[in-house]
Amino acid sequence: MIKKLCLFLALVPTFVYAAETLVIHAKVITVDPMRPVAEAFAMENGRFTAVGTNEEILKLKTPTTEVIDLKGMTVTPGFNDAHLHPQAIFEEDSPYYRVWLGGDRVKTIDELVAALKRKAAITPAGKTINGYGYNDVLLGRHPNRHDLDKVSTTQPVSITHGSGHITAVNSFILEAAGITNETQDPAGGALDRDLDGTPNGVIRESARGLLSKGRPDVRGTGSDERAAIPHDQERQGYLNCFRQYSARGITSVGVAGGSPTSFRLMQELRDAGNPVRVGFMFSVGSFDALDAAGIKQGLGDDRLRIISLKNFQGNSLSGRTAWLSQAYADRPDYFGIPPARTQEKLDADVQKWWDAGWQVATHSNGDREIDMVLTAIERAHAKNPRPDARWRIEHASVMNQALLDRAKKDGVILVFHSYMWEYGNVLASYGPERLAMMHAYRTAIDMGIHVAGHSDSPISAAYPLLRIQDMVTRKSSDGVARGANQRVSVDEAIKAWTLDGAYATFDEKDKGSITPGKLADFVVLERDPREVALETIKDIVVEATYLGGRKVYTAGDKPVAMVPQPPMNFGDANFGDGDEEENTNGSNH
Ligand SMILES: [Zn+2]
Repeated sequence: MIKKLCLFLALVPTFVYAAETLVIHAKVITVDPMRPVAEAFAMENGRFTAVGTNEEILKLKTPTTEVIDLKGMTVTPGFNDAHLHPQAIFEEDSPYYRVWLGGDRVKTIDELVAALKRKAAITPAGKTINGYGYNDVLLGRHPNRHDLDKVSTTQPVSITHGSGHITAVNSFILEAAGITNETQDPAGGALDRDLDGTPNGVIRESARGLLSKGRPDVRGTGSDERAAIPHDQERQGYLNCFRQYSARGITSVGVAGGSPTSFRLMQELRDAGNPVRVGFMFSVGSFDALDAAGIKQGLGDDRLRIISLKNFQGNSLSGRTAWLSQAYADRPDYFGIPPARTQEKLDADVQKWWDAGWQVATHSNGDREIDMVLTAIERAHAKNPRPDARWRIEHASVMNQALLDRAKKDGVILVFHSYMWEYGNVLASYGPERLAMMHAYRTAIDMGIHVAGHSDSPISAAYPLLRIQDMVTRKSSDGVARGANQRVSVDEAIKAWTLDGAYATFDEKDKGSITPGKLADFVVLERDPREVALETIKDIVVEATYLGGRKVYTAGDKPVAMVPQPPMNFGDANFGDGDEEENTNGSNH
């Protein structure tokens, strides 16, 4: 053996002296600027050990080395979805399945009512009939209590908009929650009303908190739906979700907000073999408990680690509640819903978390919201400067040059959406001027601002190839491009979904490129996304996903039907952005 080692050392003038596994005859997009393309690489103990030509790498072969010949297929680093909300996935016949109402399945109010009726027929008395993901633009309007009363008047019916920011309920729930025409709109929220002032069941933003003031025995009025699912089934449902991510080539995710209960579940999943690395953001509502326990970001391992605090200052882009400096293009008197928290309170909160040593990741969409967040960041920074801060703004959707300049100055990472595919028609109401600075990848990358790709799943599909296609085409499923000036190249999009995602969690030394020394997380693609028609990137087959050098997904494996994920609920243990102190939102984008 020693002799053999010496031989290798003589042949290869690097630190590499053997390899468990070689991958050869691949088209490797390394995302490593030092060596952007390669044909082959070697792995040992879960990490890449060498990257090079077939000839160079084959020299590392020993009698026990496994050689994987990819026959010309393309390899990229494993995809990193910087911000999403895992949801337990159940088969459609499961009692825990919630009805998917997205535009690919439901295009009219009648179809929506019919889909919910089918679920009602198999839902036991007293249980809520849940649906999620509806697209009001496609439907022509939001479904209201009059529609949902056609589903049931004796059982709770609760559905959420694709944004996760707007809930529509039937009369049964309104009554149980005690919502009448006397009920006022709370700060940061709104109740849609019939002409006579009676709430029509469409409930926006913080007004959804009114539901939890209802009868706790009525599900859908804010009681913890999750508690109703047996724990082992729930755990399995979440594993299904992570396997689905893995089947799309995802090897790392940022879980964007959760409670200690959610974190405990994440630990169980890790121990049960979760094939995806999890960076966990605690919702800021958990800050005091974490601080008392002496826990801060960085704790954990490469399978599950605490990465930041998830804060909230603002509303929804696709729900069109984001607070804007100029009125919405189609409603001249409407600027969105202002956040409930004042600048003063935001400054104090941000300073407290920052001083305790946390990376703060703040959800913010409208330009007026982003302005508040940047102001808080600037003030915290001025009082307590910290090198390499890496503040994050999640979504940062409606941008302008002045805001981008400020983000650049403070080294703020912008975690942009890329969901024109799903929401292009909805976003049209922002008007061409704002669309030209929405999800401003092109401008930000040109300015040297760090960006990171994310799906916010289930808001948009946790499907990196579709998201990358979105970034390079800006086209929605109906073929219309919006904000086309913000298009980026395929290479830039891949980098946002790999190396830049790793940077956002201080992990760029360990993840994000195919570089000797980094974790051997990679994806095998049937074709090179740079060489297909841009509108077909989403159709490229993910042939295999590897985590730490181990194959965790093979094309054809279908551990669970590829159905969309169920929605967030209101309970404590969801993985939504729910900040128990500041708002009652289940999920946001
Ligand atoms: Zn989110």
